[in-house]
Amino acid sequence: MWLEMSRDPTHGGAGWEFGTCVWSPSRKQQGGRWPFWELLLKVRLGDTIFHLRGVVAIGEEVRSVRMRIGQERFSAEVRKNYGWRCCFPDCEVIDPVLLVGSHIGRWSDALELRGDVSNGLCLCLMHDKAFENGLYTLDRSMKVRINPVRISSVRWANKNLQPFDGRSIRSGSIVPDPKALGLHWERIGFAPKG
Ligand SMILES: [Zn+2]
Repeated sequence: MWLEMSRDPTHGGAGWEFGTCVWSPSRKQQGGRWPFWELLLKVRLGDTIFHLRGVVAIGEEVRSVRMRIGQERFSAEVRKNYGWRCCFPDCEVIDPVLLVGSHIGRWSDALELRGDVSNGLCLCLMHDKAFENGLYTLDRSMKVRINPVRISSVRWANKNLQPFDGRSIRSGSIVPDPKALGLHWERIGFAPKG
């Protein structure tokens, strides 16, 4: 994914459209010349390009666009790592609209793990929400550990989470970073033994 910023609101003059932008892979496909920067040569067909036009304030707006792009990429890579299915034991959710690339250590807490696939789990919406709220966590051997304090007040969890205590998640090819798990334990106030 690329982020192109131009101060020129017309960005190439009358008749300009995305297809003729020098960054556009379709321009490359049509044999257009690539006269400017080396980065342009690295753009491949199928890459996503964000074009920001007009006077761009370098500050909060750009940072939030960058962060959004970073989070979207993270979410897609995490879901891919787990084969596009919820990694909670026996969970059957495989529909992409019901899956999220969930952060283990919060984006804001885990500076060095930011955007790192080892800080993510692919979970369905229910298992994501339950994880986010600390109803369960994972121990160092990637087994589900139920947080007895928090599940007592959630009826759904007694029936749908408790029986999975001690069961292993479905592993992705990149496994969760122990540092990320430590951040989750700290945040929810529950560190499983073992
Ligand atoms: Zn699930």
